[in-house]
Amino acid sequence: MTDLKSMTPEELAAYFKELGQPAFRAKQVFSWLNQGVESFNGMTNLPKDLRERLAKECRLFAPQIERKQVSRLDGTVKYLWRLWDGNCVETVLMRYHHGNTVCVSCQAGCNMGCVFCASTLGGKVRDLTAGEILDQIVFAQKDSGEKVSNIVMMGIGEPLDNFDNVLRFLELVNRPDGLNIGMRHISLSTCGLVDRIDKLASLGLQLTLSVSLHAPDDETRSRLMPVNRAVGVERLMETCRRYFETTGRRVSYEYAMIDGVNDSDGQADRLAALLRGQPAHVNLIPLNDVEESPLKPSRRVRQFQQRLESHGVTATVRRKLGSDIDASCGQLRRRQMRTGG
Ligand code: SAH
Repeated sequence: MTDLKSMTPEELAAYFKELGQPAFRAKQVFSWLNQGVESFNGMTNLPKDLRERLAKECRLFAPQIERKQVSRLDGTVKYLWRLWDGNCVETVLMRYHHGNTVCVSCQAGCNMGCVFCASTLGGKVRDLTAGEILDQIVFAQKDSGEKVSNIVMMGIGEPLDNFDNVLRFLELVNRPDGLNIGMRHISLSTCGLVDRIDKLASLGLQLTLSVSLHAPDDETRSRLMPVNRAVGVERLMETCRRYFETTGRRVSYEYAMIDGVNDSDGQADRLAALLRGQPAHVNLIPLNDVEESPLKPSRRVRQFQQRLESHGVTATVRRKLGSDIDASCGQLRRRQMRTGG
């Protein structure tokens, strides 16, 4: 079955040419897909026989809303979508002054094994296609009736572990005839797969790279993030410096604050030393409590931030949105899996 949703307008053009159709059919279909059309019959400007042919040859599945939660505190919406094969993934729509941001998932589950993260508990089931990543934005827009202007790839999964599909997604979402979201409005978060970071850098995209650092030393980081055992903090930082030199884009670092694990003044000092010599931004994230995990949120977030700033490091504390609705990604899917839905 042909996956039209993951095809670029050029690929669609080639496909319709093969079907003996005029070139504008590709444009019509691309436009329908970006509006969240649910069936070929809904593509009302296509001739009926073409619609029937497409229905035979192509897969067109709209993600179904399995659960939807709306925060009463700040209007954050969290979707749990059911995909064509029964897998579920989460998407969060956040409303900021500067526009609506959507946090998308790129895999069903995750293999990276970070000990504080709910997404990794059952391992990775499969990669999402480019179309399935795009659909999360298309259908969040359709359901909410609101335009999305920013994307963060911080949902379930490791984007650089699904490299080709993620890049294809970035191309699709960036298209002026599609959702037209500029690279500077997109953040991609990674646990730090260094070879892939280099590969991404070589493409020179203007997106923001966010690196989940979470600890300044190998002992702590390897304990929290198994991925660190193979590479280590030093090589990761060299790679990030190279990323900045190649792309000219400042790297952003995520740091989930965990009680008694990575929140001491000494660790703030080490973190500042680690980041010396590169323009960096540290995003301190209050840890989201994951039921299965013994790790607890730090009570020293402000002190840690001030300590970093005293060393001249820019650090912000991430505002917690949707804290009444399990809004950190992976938790809703996890609950669904536990209850055997
Ligand atoms: N795999 C990518 C992106 C997904 S997670 C990555 O590792 O960056 C997005 C961010 O949320 C990462 O920084 C991740 O470490 C963080 N995160 C995961 N679980 C968390 C939790 N319980 N509390 C706070 N942050 C968490």
